[in-house]
Amino acid sequence: MGKFPIADRALLSIWICKKCKARNPAGSKRCRKCDWTKLRPKRAKKKEAKGK
Ligand SMILES: [Zn+2]
Repeated sequence: MGKFPIADRALLSIWICKKCKARNPAGSKRCRKCDWTKLRPKRAKKKEAKGK
């Protein structure tokens, strides 16, 4: 207990801007704040597809 499934899910659907760290909806192509295109899921996985 002590965990909040809903909050957990919310985190999964949030992407963080690598530049300004603003939160964006998952799937965003660019940061809505600074227009940066490098976003990453809130829960960064070790295996990150690079390139391509
Ligand atoms: Zn940003």
